[in-house]
Amino acid sequence: MFINISELISTPLKTETFTVPVDMDFYELQGDRFPFREKGKLILTISNAGNRKVHLEGQWQGSLGIPCDRCLKEVVVPFHVELDETVDLSPERQEDAADDSYVEENSINTDALIDHEILIRFPMKTLCREDCKGICLKCGKDLNHGECGCDRASLDPRMAAIQDIFKNFKEV
Ligand SMILES: [Zn+2]
Ligand SMILES: [Zn+2]
Repeated sequence: MFINISELISTPLKTETFTVPVDMDFYELQGDRFPFREKGKLILTISNAGNRKVHLEGQWQGSLGIPCDRCLKEVVVPFHVELDETVDLSPERQEDAADDSYVEENSINTDALIDHEILIRFPMKTLCREDCKGICLKCGKDLNHGECGCDRASLDPRMAAIQDIFKNFKEV
């Protein structure tokens, strides 16, 4: 949704609060789509901060379905966004404010704003549980549900070595 802020900018000291739904069904990152499991609503207070600056204060809570890195089972990952920032809309500043991609002309694109906030909070790693055993590299069975009986010995030595390296790396 676009919130037009041209009137707000031309009215000194004006403050307005908006409750905005999320219009997206997916969050997209590098070609992958993650469905929203809870969209919540963005509560956004926009204030005229003078000199064509606006102050944004907002809150949003929602969640995305993200596959486990090891077994691909969906994990519902919550996101909690607290927003408190000033956006400069003066012509001189707008050019190099590449960060504020959600500010377009005299409006705020709330979906782009949430998109931006999810991006900076997106987890590096997603696991359904700490000790997820993953899937068998031979038959694809979810090993959390038990052994499949495949002979993975040929794969194991190298995998074990790699896992050890990661383990040591983590412990440093
Ligand atoms: Zn898993
Ligand atoms: Zn197997």
